[in-house]
Amino acid sequence: MLLDAHHRPVKDLRISVTDRCNFRCTYCMPFAEYSAWIDRHELLTYEEIARVAAIFLELGADKIRLTGGEPLVRKNLEDLVAKLSALPGLRDLCLTTNGALLTEKAVALKAAGLKRLNVSLDSLDAEKFKRISQRGDLPRVLEGLKAAQRAGFERIKINAVIERGVNDDEILPLAEFARANGFAVRFIEFMDVGNSNDWTLQKVVPKKEMLERIAARYPLERVGREDGSAPAVDYRFADGAGDVGVIASVTEPFCGDCTRARLTADGKLVTCLFSRDGHDLKTMIRSGASDESLREFISALWRNRTDRYSEERLEAMNSAQGYEAKSHKKLEMIVLGG
Ligand code: SAM
Ligand code: SF4
Ligand code: SF4
Repeated sequence: MLLDAHHRPVKDLRISVTDRCNFRCTYCMPFAEYSAWIDRHELLTYEEIARVAAIFLELGADKIRLTGGEPLVRKNLEDLVAKLSALPGLRDLCLTTNGALLTEKAVALKAAGLKRLNVSLDSLDAEKFKRISQRGDLPRVLEGLKAAQRAGFERIKINAVIERGVNDDEILPLAEFARANGFAVRFIEFMDVGNSNDWTLQKVVPKKEMLERIAARYPLERVGREDGSAPAVDYRFADGAGDVGVIASVTEPFCGDCTRARLTADGKLVTCLFSRDGHDLKTMIRSGASDESLREFISALWRNRTDRYSEERLEAMNSAQGYEAKSHKKLEMIVLGG
């Protein structure tokens, strides 16, 4: 089995299909000016993506998540879904989306073989939703969620990034919305991804506080991590009305079980969400590298992987010097895919 330097196998491949987005969420892509957009010709084609994915499946991965940027702004994404879902060894194929284009796309994605959906939704208040997403429209996303349910997607997960003073008052309403409508909500601690979102520890609502707020109204029972290594720790409502999860990358990092590799839209392999840079597969692919040499290159990178950024952040936070997010240059979230 292919293991990294901390004995972690590669199990999940997160593929960013584009760095473009129809939203500008303040926690992810706050910049009005941005000049590093990936040129269209630099995007991996769907054939190239499927080739890399097949190599990852041979190396032991069995789960693929499509992300971005906003994956649904890339043309005919269902064609990629169809190619990937035909690959041997794939157990799970998911998509993370802001939901704005789901009404148009849900049926085609389901027919192409997409298994699961995560839809980001940070507020149920239309004005606040607009303030956070800067370009989004809440009714469209809610309609997209309904369209996905009608198309036959089950157990759709809602992802909500919680930022203190911005939407921490939405924790309970979002939990109630999910309970009432058959969704599973995942609350995400605000992270210092990228270089632009003005992250400070004071803006993080810790997992413990999120759970206390929910449990005060709806008692919870701990379930644990899906597959033992999922980022979210899940809890079920004691009254049986579904479950919630919390992704606590800041206060309870889970690097020890991190089995995730990321492929950027321009074909760079990234081994951590907080990496400074990726490793160029596209040049190899476009200069005729064989599957064997790609497999060797990826295996060697994975074997040498030592990433544990979130654990190091927590150690720094607890040290005398503290942690200074701005002193670490990182890839932007829209480039490496969440
Ligand atoms: N555009 C899609 C979406 O919003 O779902 C997919 C890409 S987005 C980068 C993937 C996930 O990353 C989303 O759930 C988003 O909320 C999350 N995310 C982005 N910036 C974040 C941050 N600073 N802290 C925590 N989660 C973040
Ligand atoms: Fe776009 Fe998703 Fe980032 Fe929001 S979180 S700006 S929807 S990529
Ligand atoms: Fe994995 Fe890096 Fe996140 Fe740790 S910080 S869980 S190594 S992606």
